Amino acid sequence: MLSTFFIRITGQVQGVGFRPFVYQQAEKYQLKGWVNNSLEGVHIQVSGAHEEVDAFIHALKEEKPPVAHIAKFTADPIPYQDFSSFEIVKSNREGTGQLVLTPDLAMCPSCRSELKDPQNRRYRYPFITCNYCGPRYSIIQGLPYDRERTSMAPFPMCPVCQNEYDSPPEWRFFSQTNSCDSCGMSVALYDAAFKLLQTDYEPCIAQVVHTILEGRIVAVKGIGGYLLLCDAGNEAALKLLRERKGRARKPFALMYPSLEAAELDVVLDPVRKNALTGPAAPILLAFKRPDPKFPICADQLAPGLDQLG
Ligand SMILES: [Zn+2]
Ligand SMILES: [Zn+2]
Repeated sequence: MLSTFFIRITGQVQGVGFRPFVYQQAEKYQLKGWVNNSLEGVHIQVSGAHEEVDAFIHALKEEKPPVAHIAKFTADPIPYQDFSSFEIVKSNREGTGQLVLTPDLAMCPSCRSELKDPQNRRYRYPFITCNYCGPRYSIIQGLPYDRERTSMAPFPMCPVCQNEYDSPPEWRFFSQTNSCDSCGMSVALYDAAFKLLQTDYEPCIAQVVHTILEGRIVAVKGIGGYLLLCDAGNEAALKLLRERKGRARKPFALMYPSLEAAELDVVLDPVRKNALTGPAAPILLAFKRPDPKFPICADQLAPGLDQLG
């Protein structure tokens, strides 16, 4: 006996790989119908055998993408509809907004390994993202979440990226922030007088590293604003940054290349480790070790405090 259900899901369900996930589950249980984003969240209609639909609903709740959070889930029987396939259909802007905006997500482990793989076409590509990581909140200009309503809109995908976007079950299937070096997003490096120095990302990054090691300050325009960077082991550079910012004592945040490296300077308990390696990867406070391994100027970074951020 075949039946059709209309499923409505609200919560943090956009920009987290939910539509491609639903598509894959529908394929798995051989269900036909559609999924889309609406102002409310995600809407799905599926037709199939009752047990398969039940298993599909169970999977949606239990195996959802890591960053997704479901606030409300309803599945109502509706008159049977004979769909010919399962599809991700155009977003629907009707209804009232109940969406929980997805925050910007830290680089996921898969993207990190691609970034470091010389054989990968996104080797060292600065804007690497996938369905499970990358900017969301900072680039969203309107809802529902689709590339056309983000600051990615002026950068159409190259044919290779488009193919990834169109082909399940790639983890960039339907990934709204998908891009590569051929898609048109670029990096530029300017000197203090705003003279353009570089536009290729490899030499830009090399020169930024060199500039920081020379004890100078670099402003990096990121997705959510500017980050001011300098060498945490260079007291003169830190003092200069404090002077220029007019920040006599307010602590600065530190960045480490890895969890292992950070652990040499601060004490990280399991809760902190989980947070740092999770999708949010926030700035958090941790107690200084009495004998830091890196030559950081702890007194300049967080004057008078026993914790570092
Ligand atoms: Zn990723
Ligand atoms: Zn591309």
